[in-house]
Amino acid sequence: MPYTYALGLRTRFRGITQRQGMVWRGSVGWAEWSPFLDYDGAEIVPWLQAADEAAEQGWPTPIRDEVEVNATVPAIGPAQAAAIVKAAGCRTAKVKVGERGQTLTDDLDRVAAVREALGPRGRIRVDANGAWDVDQATNALARLSRFELEYAEQPCRTVDELATLRVALARANLDVPIAADESIRRAADPYLVARKQAADVAVLKVQPLGGVRACLQIAAEIGLPVVVSSALETSIGIAAGVALAAALPELPYACGLNTVRLFTGDLAAQPLIAVDGRIQVRAVNPDPDLLTSCAADDETRQFWQARLGQTRQLAERGSSQRPSQRPSQRQRGDLDG
Ligand SMILES: [Mg+2]
Repeated sequence: MPYTYALGLRTRFRGITQRQGMVWRGSVGWAEWSPFLDYDGAEIVPWLQAADEAAEQGWPTPIRDEVEVNATVPAIGPAQAAAIVKAAGCRTAKVKVGERGQTLTDDLDRVAAVREALGPRGRIRVDANGAWDVDQATNALARLSRFELEYAEQPCRTVDELATLRVALARANLDVPIAADESIRRAADPYLVARKQAADVAVLKVQPLGGVRACLQIAAEIGLPVVVSSALETSIGIAAGVALAAALPELPYACGLNTVRLFTGDLAAQPLIAVDGRIQVRAVNPDPDLLTSCAADDETRQFWQARLGQTRQLAERGSSQRPSQRPSQRQRGDLDG
């Protein structure tokens, strides 16, 4: 039987202060299903496919026993940002930028503090979640580039904007690689970014892309280096991201999987949190007491049970129609519905 959890976030993250989702045990292991609350309809079916894979199929054999991860820095003040980086003990930090209601000065101050906390040999990537248009992105990355960015993730919203931005950056002699995240996981066609030369790096997330095997297939076919990132899951969901990172033939970048730290609690007695910048590849089971103490209230539980039932129906309908419904033929608008 699925358990519905509700966990607080230590700091507001993209407007969210609480994370909710479901976990359940299948025939081979524990699964997490936690599509974001502003996602809906067909878009959350792959999240369920990922959970079913974890519960009923398990994951491919890992080829590494630990994965390097980055610290994740929300759009907070510089002192708090530096404290997070120091506490995480990672050599790479991903810094949120372009937050609504903030200015480029806020971003510059935050990234400067992170650079100082990490030292000159640390790596910094920024993530704008598509907040900027091409001109804003060119200007922001020109000013942020003095902190030496490993890459900028989803600086603009659309694939065409990302492609235009890459040309603008090259013309301005700015060497900031572009990573695509939303342009892959919310797109009808995850390969469009590669065909349009809109990114240098592809961010893969297990739940929105339909599971570990689905991500391995994208990694094999997309022709870009990949980074594994979480969708802010409990340790149950993070284990799926770790399984993907552990099975990828190439893993050139630190993964964005050290996000359990952003929660006020977790479902596992020994959370999947980095030690010395690395997360061990291991099985994770929830702790019965924590399942009880992190349980959502009745109203939230009923919402998630109904959401699961509806999504299960959608998934079953989709699989019976699959021959005529190739993802590349669907409109983006349908998925955003
Ligand atoms: Mg991102």
